[in-house]
Amino acid sequence: MARPVQFNVKNEGGKKVDISQFPGGYQGEGFFAGKMSELVGWGRSNSLWPLPFATSCCGIEFMATMASHYDLARFGSERVGFSPRQCDLLMVMGTIAKKMGPVLKQVYLQMAEPRWVIAVGACASSGGIFDTYSVLQGIDQIIPVDVYVPGCPPRPEAIIDGVMKVQDLVGQESLRRRNSEQYKALMESYGIE
Ligand code: SF4
Repeated sequence: MARPVQFNVKNEGGKKVDISQFPGGYQGEGFFAGKMSELVGWGRSNSLWPLPFATSCCGIEFMATMASHYDLARFGSERVGFSPRQCDLLMVMGTIAKKMGPVLKQVYLQMAEPRWVIAVGACASSGGIFDTYSVLQGIDQIIPVDVYVPGCPPRPEAIIDGVMKVQDLVGQESLRRRNSEQYKALMESYGIE
């Protein structure tokens, strides 16, 4: 049976583009010269280590995303870990109660830079249907988010699309971005030094 999603191929204006492609440069016999930032971005984007912070139903969709049919390992992301210091992609899936907020922030702070965050599903993105006193109305109230995946729950295809969006960001990110004034200001707005 054909796989539901092609490996690292995205549609750009009707044209299929392989985003896992090796960056361009100059090469000859025995040498290759390219941009350091592009090579690093290429390596990082094809070896993301996710940390699944799953609290409810969206986490089940993530399990399906990791299983053999959808197989996130095709994107170099099979090394799912619960050790923040070794992961670089925080995937928040499920309803986050306000009481859970400080725990989520602590996990984020324990991750080393560069780190990226996906809010998977309506609850993580906006509180979802739980417009109540006890539920955080979106994790971007406490940590910066790079990609939002809509849906309640989002299907595995949507989660894979979110991971591919992050791969795009990672591949194109300047090595200096994390030292920029804008990035420091963003962190300060969340009370992070
Ligand atoms: S977005 Fe929907 S499926 Fe996902 S955790 Fe919230 S209620 Fe559950």
